[in-house]
Amino acid sequence: MISIIEIFYSLQGEGFLAGRPSVFVRIAGCPLRCRYCDTPYAWSDKNAIDLTIDQITESVKKYNCHSVVVTGGEPMINPQLPELLNKLKENALHITIETAGIKFVPNLPCDLMSISPKLTNSIPEDAAAAKTHNQNCLNIDALKQLTKIYNYQLKFVVDTPKDLEDIQQLLAKLPAVDKEKVMLMPQASTRQQYLEKSQIVADLCKETHFTFCQRLHILLYGNQKGV
Ligand code: SF4
Repeated sequence: MISIIEIFYSLQGEGFLAGRPSVFVRIAGCPLRCRYCDTPYAWSDKNAIDLTIDQITESVKKYNCHSVVVTGGEPMINPQLPELLNKLKENALHITIETAGIKFVPNLPCDLMSISPKLTNSIPEDAAAAKTHNQNCLNIDALKQLTKIYNYQLKFVVDTPKDLEDIQQLLAKLPAVDKEKVMLMPQASTRQQYLEKSQIVADLCKETHFTFCQRLHILLYGNQKGV
């Protein structure tokens, strides 16, 4: 059984596959508690239902859609992730994993590892949560492995221009990363915030040659759950 928060059909909102119709499988559980997290209901299994891998696969197949996005929470910490992905791959699905890059798991049948490493701007305000966050949020070895073994994109959440320094420091520790796979995305939870921050991020992208990462779901749905 895997604790699942939701399975729904929508458009991929972020990254190089933005706009692609996809089925989302949101797995419960994440230790990071990021300040700007837009899915806090996925931090634990409190809001989840337990489904077998066959039940999850059947739910995904009902949408008759070629792409599946396995997200969270943090799906890479779920011990049953390899078994789930192998089952989804048996059905010839294109698989994206959305992860903060805190754990490396080998031999996953993953077509796109969509990694969003967490910067200082994600530290929670609560002191206890911040301690756990800081202990778990950055795993350079995992990031090196994930970007070596898998097809990947690196998406950084930008709140202010000062975040660029953080991003550059992290990338300096990952010299093999292809800069053309690095994306900057505005930190926002409403359309208004998104539009305001987009200008800042667009300017940073022009300065750095990183790619602007849109967040289509915020524009379309204002960050509603499950759409
Ligand atoms: S890693 Fe993702 S799911 Fe986990 S707290 Fe941060 S933003 Fe939320």
